[in-house]
Amino acid sequence: MIDCVISNVLIFDGVAALSAEKNAVWISNGRIVKVASSAEITSSEKVIDGQGATLMPGLIDAHFHCNSPAVDITVADKLVPSHMAQYARMYLEDMLMRGFTTLRDAGGADMGLVRARNEGLIQGPRLYVSGKALSQSGGHGDFRGEVLLCGCDSYSGSLTCVVDGPDSIRVNVRNLLRTGVHQVKLFVSGGVLSPMDPIWMDQYTDGEITAAVEEAARWRTYVMAHSLTDNASRRCAALGVRSIEHGLGITPETASFIAERETFLVPTLGTPHWLLEGVVPVPPASIEKLKTVGHAGAIAVENCARAGVRIGFGTDLLGTLHGREAYELVLRSQVSGSLETLRSATSVNADLMNLGGQVGTIVSGAYADLLLLDGDPLTDISILTTPQKTIKLIMLEGKIITNRLETRPVT
Ligand SMILES: [Zn+2]
Repeated sequence: MIDCVISNVLIFDGVAALSAEKNAVWISNGRIVKVASSAEITSSEKVIDGQGATLMPGLIDAHFHCNSPAVDITVADKLVPSHMAQYARMYLEDMLMRGFTTLRDAGGADMGLVRARNEGLIQGPRLYVSGKALSQSGGHGDFRGEVLLCGCDSYSGSLTCVVDGPDSIRVNVRNLLRTGVHQVKLFVSGGVLSPMDPIWMDQYTDGEITAAVEEAARWRTYVMAHSLTDNASRRCAALGVRSIEHGLGITPETASFIAERETFLVPTLGTPHWLLEGVVPVPPASIEKLKTVGHAGAIAVENCARAGVRIGFGTDLLGTLHGREAYELVLRSQVSGSLETLRSATSVNADLMNLGGQVGTIVSGAYADLLLLDGDPLTDISILTTPQKTIKLIMLEGKIITNRLETRPVT
């Protein structure tokens, strides 16, 4: 039985704008069952008149952090889990209202949030979690600072934990997967916000990365890896990591290798941009690191696009930077154009997450995760930055979350 038909719309299906004859979408049981002409609507079907607006798949953010009350990651570490869960709930609810219907958490969120969402205790996008991201001692996920407590001292924070050696990594990845995480996250280069590690540093040995990749593959899933250098990104591709996160400064040669290995890139241009602008204060050491980053993100996107790398979309926002997610779309479009950026945030991200045909697309069989936009995002992507004004309808699995369409009198 058809639950409803959204008619009288222009459709961007996650890859391209459809021809004007395909202007209606039939929905049943949370899924899209037909995309065709409004002329095929029967008198018994419930119709939502889209009033000529653009219908597109709900957005996907492949690099989100639910556990991120502040840019300073040590703040998260001081919160008890029930307190942290309230931040996560708020961020999830907000993301859905911004038009994001699927998120991949890049470190921190666990299955508790997924279950709470699936049981209807909290309202939010479909969520794919990594649990705590794994870091070597002294790596990007090690927030112990410079005090050496004792030889057996270790670290397990809100977003990350320290694990060294291939055998320990195997055990940790197996345990993460036992708890139900969807993918595994590693840090394979230095980072900006961590206190001790230089940004250029290679992290984890080949054997350690391979151990994680093998264990993830046994569960038919994959590894995503934080990488801020050309060499670290090359190592990701060589060692079977599926998704290179941030991927700064990738050269044309490495881009070709990444394309050959069919590894994805998930750039995140906004965070370094806004931190350098001073939107949120960060320690002087991080500012020095940020200066070395410069435009390395945009250059990597350009080189990877030229080489044919599949480029996804992620935001990586923390603390008060949340709320700027759609501005990442605008920044990306300045490098990639609107069409490629929207593909990244829908169909490419879906493929990256092994969800092709299920989300990020408007096709028979996909979840009815849909946005109805006042305006055309292919010509002006910035309309997604004002969701309260421009997103007329948000639908998640066939359920209407928000409806700002003016109801017309029945004629
Ligand atoms: Zn991140």
